[in-house]
Amino acid sequence: MIKCKILFILLFFIITTSCSNSSNNAFEDQSFAMGTIITQQIYGNDSKKVSDEVNTKIHELESIMTINAPGGEIDKLNNSAGDGSWNTLNKETIYVLKKAIKFSDLSEGAFDITIGPLVKKWNISAENPQVPNDSEVKSLINLTNYKDILIDEQNLQARLARKGQIVDLGGIAKGYAADQAISIYKKHGITSAYINLGGNVSVLGGKPDGSPWIVGIQNPRQPIGRYIGTLKIRDKTIVTSGDYERYFIKDNIRYHHILNPKTGYPADSGLISTTIITGLSVDADALSTATFVLGLDKGRKLVEGIEGVEAIFVTTNKEIFITSGLKNIFTFDDESKEFKYVKER
Ligand code: ADP
Ligand code: MG
Repeated sequence: MIKCKILFILLFFIITTSCSNSSNNAFEDQSFAMGTIITQQIYGNDSKKVSDEVNTKIHELESIMTINAPGGEIDKLNNSAGDGSWNTLNKETIYVLKKAIKFSDLSEGAFDITIGPLVKKWNISAENPQVPNDSEVKSLINLTNYKDILIDEQNLQARLARKGQIVDLGGIAKGYAADQAISIYKKHGITSAYINLGGNVSVLGGKPDGSPWIVGIQNPRQPIGRYIGTLKIRDKTIVTSGDYERYFIKDNIRYHHILNPKTGYPADSGLISTTIITGLSVDADALSTATFVLGLDKGRKLVEGIEGVEAIFVTTNKEIFITSGLKNIFTFDDESKEFKYVKER
């Protein structure tokens, strides 16, 4: 499990140039939360204090949003599923629930945080994960329906309509946490920082020398640290979802952790990874999971319909497609020579 998480951190990595001069040295911090390693690189005064504040915030968010620990807000919501009672939740939880519902609507249910019962049944992160019984999978599909998340925004309350329903924020919470980290950097007057929460990268500003951050995109079929290209970014987030993050192979079939709510099985839409580039990481996180489920054509259409969102799609045919806004900032660089960069369709 831990080994698996260590891989996460390397899904993205900054390609550091060794030219940073001493006054521009970054403060670097590494910690563990939300089931993953978190790396921060901060330039400026009081960087240690700022990184500590970010870590504290992320731990707080983890405890309220996880489904794995009792006593959190999502735990409260799940435990009362179907009993008709409203749960008073904090503003941040309501915000994330509302974001999740928004992207469920936009993706016509490809993204759906009520996927919890199916995630539990598949239990991909277990020591010896097994393919569940087909009829059990089919019976749980019925419990997955984001329209059953009822929210009374004015009173900051929510409830789940039916007994047995489970909200799982695994596909969106890290994005929200990354956004909160950027807010904390800004609050302290930091103008240059990078944070990576297990594949959710967000950068504030550019590098101190004025150049953009250069972030490598993991080659989904090569060892960690090999990439298919790089992106030059400032003030953006980059979030990838892929079939290579958490999976097991049985009878030559790869069973991974992103489920198609319509089938109950790992999404099988012809993609091996999707990467979203936009301003808010909470949006990018939901959209990377959603587009992975939707596949190239529908995923691309979804992304192109939302202002300020760009994407990279890697298909099972080993082709790479990017949306038009990335033309000048994406550099294709596949040492493995396994992938083909398709410039125009
Ligand atoms: P990761 O968190 O591993 O970087 P994702 O953001 O794509 O990857 O989220 C995958 C997680 O989201 C799963 O582990 C599960 O908890 C949850 N999930 C799986 N399928 C869906 C789905 N269709 N919609 C929303 N959440 C999902
Ligand atoms: Mg996601």
